[in-house]
Amino acid sequence: MIQAKAYAAQAADTPLAPWNFERRDVGPQDVLIEIAYCGVCHTDVHQARNEWFPGIFPMVPGHEIVGKIVQVGTHAKKHKPGDLAGVGVMVDSCRTCEDCRNGQEQFCSVSPVLTYNNRDKNGQPVYGGYSNYIVVHEDFVLRVSGKLDLAGVAPLLCAGITTYSPLRRWNVGKGHKLAVVGLGGLGHMAVKFGAAFGADVTVLSTSPNKAEAARRLGANRLVVTKDEDQMKAAQRSFDFIIDTVAADHDINPYLATLRTNGVYVNVGMPVQPFQVPSFTLAMGNKVVAGSGAGGLPETQEMLDFCAEKNIAADVELVNMKDINAAFERMLRGDVLYRFVIDMKTL
Ligand code: NAP
Ligand code: ZN
Ligand code: ZN
Repeated sequence: MIQAKAYAAQAADTPLAPWNFERRDVGPQDVLIEIAYCGVCHTDVHQARNEWFPGIFPMVPGHEIVGKIVQVGTHAKKHKPGDLAGVGVMVDSCRTCEDCRNGQEQFCSVSPVLTYNNRDKNGQPVYGGYSNYIVVHEDFVLRVSGKLDLAGVAPLLCAGITTYSPLRRWNVGKGHKLAVVGLGGLGHMAVKFGAAFGADVTVLSTSPNKAEAARRLGANRLVVTKDEDQMKAAQRSFDFIIDTVAADHDINPYLATLRTNGVYVNVGMPVQPFQVPSFTLAMGNKVVAGSGAGGLPETQEMLDFCAEKNIAADVELVNMKDINAAFERMLRGDVLYRFVIDMKTL
């Protein structure tokens, strides 16, 4: 077994604290990654605090992982020691079901293994990236270019692919007006990708003070959602909306800003279900859609696209010991735009 260090939640109502544990040995097709950086996704807060469902504790969160491969198994062929590598929201799947064959392993119907708060195929709990090492089957390890700042690459493994995937699926680009709801970790990546694909991007935000920052990211304007006049002026103006809000909220004011035939894609995971009147959907042929992370081929495509176009997340590096304060600051919206843990500080 491999001795590993981490920060873990021992229960849903206790802060994260240092924890030593064992990772599995490097199997024939595994790779051992020394983690350099791990992004802090709002999902980590949802799960460490049992906001969605009872979790598996101790819990080591973290699914925006980048680092260096330090060992590969005897039959591993895809990676070699010294390579930079990334791991996102999943670490294993069956490889044979319809979704796996279609490169949507995140929806594997047989044996999906998410990166943490989940169990591997042997029923053992798996632990995420708030840790110094991780052992992963080589198929679930992404190639990372050395061209970009590695800390800014970490959030691409979840926030990046979760926004890239639906924008690509709906072919958002030139001639489209795209609104991004919520300028946090996911939202700021949606702005960057929307702008890179040629769309006219508007941010719909509760934070008037993010207007300048939104423009720097590539948006053409920011609409303050608490301002009724601004929301009225935005009615029937967008072809696409991507909603990245983590907190419970009413989506009807946003649906009113869609043009006829417009598409609203939700990627946020608030706890309460949405309520949408049938009339709202019928009048204007509106589409309400969802999207969950992204599969391995598309995640690699996104990483390669980012390396080519020089796109990375805007990050604030934090020390491991400050993770609980980072959770609180994220809940207050006090981060531009993603906390990333510098694993040297573990
Ligand atoms: P985040 O960094 O906290 O950003 C969320 C943003 O939502 C905030 O920055 C804020 O932006 C806005 N917001 C917060 N409270 C709000 C409220 N009450 N009403 C309206 N807007 C509010 O979170 P994140 O890491 O981007 O994650 C966002 C959500 O996506 C989480 O629920 C997470 O679990 C989920 N997620 C889903 C997937 C997937 O596969 N679908 C993958 C990753 C994450 P403004 O200040 O601009 O208003
Ligand atoms: Zn995430
Ligand atoms: Zn499968």
